Formats: sequence, structure tokens, C-alpha cells
Amino acid sequence: MEKIPDTHPRYNSLISRKKITQAMKKGIVHETGLIAHGRGEAFDYLLGEITIPQADIAEKIAAITMVCAKNPVISVNGNVVTLVSKDVISLAESIPAKIEVNLFHRTNSRIDKIITELVNFGAKNVYGKKADAKIPGLNHNRALCDKDGIFSADVVLVPLEDGDRCKALTDMGKTVIAIDLNPLSRTAQTASITIVDNVTRAISNIEKWVNKIKTFNRNDINNLIKKWHNKRNLSEITSYISKRLNSLF
Ligand code: ATP
Repeated sequence: MEKIPDTHPRYNSLISRKKITQAMKKGIVHETGLIAHGRGEAFDYLLGEITIPQADIAEKIAAITMVCAKNPVISVNGNVVTLVSKDVISLAESIPAKIEVNLFHRTNSRIDKIITELVNFGAKNVYGKKADAKIPGLNHNRALCDKDGIFSADVVLVPLEDGDRCKALTDMGKTVIAIDLNPLSRTAQTASITIVDNVTRAISNIEKWVNKIKTFNRNDINNLIKKWHNKRNLSEITSYISKRLNSLF
């Protein structure tokens, strides 16, 4: 594949595309992962390809929620592992949280490839292979999960989720933190905490907050959690996008 010059104005976006297409050829990303990525890119364009203040606050609340959880789990798929393996592993260590592979188009070969990729990047223990439990209410392969991982988690971070599983996880009483560039998706609307940001910026920013909140006192943390209102934050995000679009021309 042709080398992308680092002076190209769309360098980051082109690098992500290159990674995703190469990972599809290796069998890590499913074909439909390319379409999901394209939808994400379109929404990132509308945001101006930056972490907007509403995303930053959601990332701060996500960090608090994960640090305070008893059994937090980061759920990953092919796209996430392709784009941000290192960031996911580093975040999981800093919380600490478990990492579990969960796939819509699940095959043993893809599960093995994704686990190997994470292990090559330094992950010590990756859940998802055993799949000895099922999320109730889902009749496809995404229901399969690990009893000691997602099934028993109190908080699950789900970058690039589908709406059905997000709802099924909240129906189980879990706190679901979603990373989704589309503020209108069912996932965004259903999650307890929705981070409307690119996973390539969001994971490392959550880790930045994990390190900062270690210096916060209990009162500060309680106040921040009390003030959190997911639907209000989403509504501010759609206003942000429409104001931005209206001011462009
Ligand atoms: P839902 O079922 O929640 O309504 P959907 O059917 O669109 O959503 P998918 O097709 O699984 O869900 O798409 C995954 C989502 O991931 C899309 O909404 C897309 O905006 C988002 N997405 C794709 N790439 C990224 C990325 N790099 N960072 C954050 N979000 C992303």
C-alpha cells in the first residue's frame, strides 16, 4: 500500500482507514466494520474532529465511574483493537479493568486473532474466548460473554456498540459507558454515559482523567456524579453540531 505523507491534511483519518482496511484483510475487522467506521468518520467531520467540551466531561465521568466500580470491563471488537490496542491496554491497567473481546460476527478464528493482537501489544489477560455465559434478551452471538468478565461486571465500557446489546446490558442493571461518534444512535440514547468522541481520542483522554481524579476528594466526585445528566449532555452535543454547521457559511 502507498505510503501516506505525514504532511497530508487528512493524515490521521487516512492512517485510520489504512489500519482498518489492512485489519480486514487479516481477518481482524469484519467487512461491516468498514461501514461502521465510515459512519463514525462522517459524524467526526460534523464535530470538527476534536474532543468537544461535552465529550471531555463525559470522559471525566466515565473515568470516575470506572475507578469506583467493583468489576469494570472494557469490551472490544475488531475496529477498537485495530485503532487503539495500546490505549485500551494502558487504560485497563490504570483503572484497573478487565478487557473482553465481544463480536457481532463471532468466529473462533477472529476471536483468536484479536486476542493475539492484544497479547502482542502487551495485554496479560484477555477475556472472551471462554464465552460461558449469555446476556439475556439477545438472540445473536453478541450475547456470548464471559461469566467472570462482562456477565458479572457492574460497569462496562463499550466503544462502538450496537444498540441492542447496549440495551440488554443496561437491562441487566449494569452501568454502560458507550463511545459513539453518532449522538443519534440507539447506543448513544440507551447508554448511562455516552461519550461522543472518536475512540482514537477518547480512550487516552479517559486515562488522563483516571490519573487526575486520583487527587480529587470524595465530595468533588459525588458532586460530579450527581450533576451528570446523559440526555442533557446529548442534547448539548446536537446543539453544538447544529450551531457549528450554521456558523460555517
Ligand atoms: P445503533 O444500533 O446503536 O443505532 P448502529 O447500528 O449504527 O447503531 P453500528 O453499525 O454497530 O451501530 O456502528 C457502530 C457505531 O460506531 C456507529 O454509530 C459509528 O458512528 C460509531 N463509530 C465508528 N467508528 C468510530 C470511532 N472511531 N470512534 C467512535 N465511534 C465510532
